[in-house]
Amino acid sequence: MKVFGSSGVRGVANEELTPGFVQRIALAAGSVWGSDTVAVARDTRATGRMLADAAASGLASVGKDVHRIGIVPTPGAQAYAERAGVPVVMITASHNPPEYNGVKLIGADGIELTRNSLERVEERLLAERFDTVPWNETGESRRVENARRAYVAEALDAVDRETIAAADLTVALDPGHGAGCLTSPEFFRELGCAVVTVNAQPDGHFPGRDPEPVAANLGDLGDLVRASDADVGIAHDGDADRAIFYDETGSYLEGDATFAALAAAELTESDITVSAVNVSQRLVDVTEATGATLELTPIGSTNIITRIRELEAEGATVPIAGEGNGGVLFPRYRLARDGAFTAAKFLELLAEKPASEVVAPYDGYANVRENIHYETDAERDAMLAAAEEYAQSADATPTTIDGYRLDYGDAWVLARPSGTEPVIRVYAEAREETRATELAVGATEAIRAGKKNA
Ligand code: MG
Repeated sequence: MKVFGSSGVRGVANEELTPGFVQRIALAAGSVWGSDTVAVARDTRATGRMLADAAASGLASVGKDVHRIGIVPTPGAQAYAERAGVPVVMITASHNPPEYNGVKLIGADGIELTRNSLERVEERLLAERFDTVPWNETGESRRVENARRAYVAEALDAVDRETIAAADLTVALDPGHGAGCLTSPEFFRELGCAVVTVNAQPDGHFPGRDPEPVAANLGDLGDLVRASDADVGIAHDGDADRAIFYDETGSYLEGDATFAALAAAELTESDITVSAVNVSQRLVDVTEATGATLELTPIGSTNIITRIRELEAEGATVPIAGEGNGGVLFPRYRLARDGAFTAAKFLELLAEKPASEVVAPYDGYANVRENIHYETDAERDAMLAAAEEYAQSADATPTTIDGYRLDYGDAWVLARPSGTEPVIRVYAEAREETRATELAVGATEAIRAGKKNA
């Protein structure tokens, strides 16, 4: 797909992502969708209203009535779609820097469009083949006020409120000036937690921190955990579909470690869990310990969601899936990443022991990364051929759906061309640093040697 990547369309607002472009996406999506009504939602970005207006006008032009649901987290928009039975155009750039914006398309079932549906929208978009209607059939817009509250109420009903309330937790919350500012504080209060916040005023200029919830951006949250003696710190990205945690000492917890802890609590023997080819050894170890099966997809949440749909259609149970960046899905609740819901599932675990102990079994894995640069396409192809040969001859289980991943049982290595730079990235992970280094060096040397064949 040229326009829709693995997480929708993103670009610098008003340069790459202009109102005209967003309007054409809406014209295309509206032409494909059968529904008479489509909702438009946005996160807190400064350009959100401008682009939401463009989407709404495109939809009206192809005869759709438009529900303007305002600022909501992406999972809140998905909840609205499912409840109202209408597709949604969500204006968000998720974790990207403030100058970005983007478009995510959600079906009337509340689930992100599959690759097939996105391809149909993209064909219309590239051909500019839109089903515009005569003037007297254009759609009407109306504001819908209750989307946030309904989302919070639904999430509250879906978690173990009694257990969480009885744990008497103090939550330090950093919604990062994003859409979660308008839903997560009340969500955790209504779960019975004491809530203290930082960066909790919605602001599209993101003055306190960038929207991406990584350790480098979250120093204030660690400080707040310590200053308020909180039991846990929770951070969201700009559209609050992700949750990253701090423990009770104010230490950053790796997303891979919390994902593994959540998976260990959910998975049983006949279950399947789905993650991407860069999945941590921690999740591999959890599936090993629980007897569940791990399925890998190419990197990107759209691929994970598409695979879960296929597995569920075959009758499989997928209680948890996702990635180590804080984007976790609990498909029995909804086939969507949801930062607040994920955080509540983590709070359920804190009823028994402190956060540091919950993640302790999944701590202390070693990651090693190497970048191998190339100058020409011929060099890249020769190196990938060497990676393939290395994968075939290794005493490991290979996965070749997105680069070359080799699982050795206790450790893994992945070689994969970067999408943005002229490098092949090599990742390795094991419990022991020496083991991870050994695997990374082995793969790197084999791939470098292949470069000579260019
Ligand atoms: Mg996001």
